[in-house]
Amino acid sequence: MRKNTKTNTRNTRNNKNPLSKKKYCYFCFKKADYIDFKDTQILQRFISSYSKIVPKKRSGICSKHQRKLSKAIKRARFMGLLPYTK
Ligand SMILES: [Zn+2]
Repeated sequence: MRKNTKTNTRNTRNNKNPLSKKKYCYFCFKKADYIDFKDTQILQRFISSYSKIVPKKRSGICSKHQRKLSKAIKRARFMGLLPYTK
């Protein structure tokens, strides 16, 4: 009995925030070197409901890919594939 309670407390200590997941960079996972501005389905994942670019703190993208992504989104906006505002 005692042993079980001990392991339970340990588990609760480790899982302080059950909602927080470990974030990973989507483009590093896909090993993408270049982000295509024509691929709007992927770009729309990283756009908020007001069609703003989601900060990397929320999306979990690394800074290298965030820079490329923002450039791709801005290009797509200019070409009329994505909206500037909603
Ligand atoms: Zn990355």
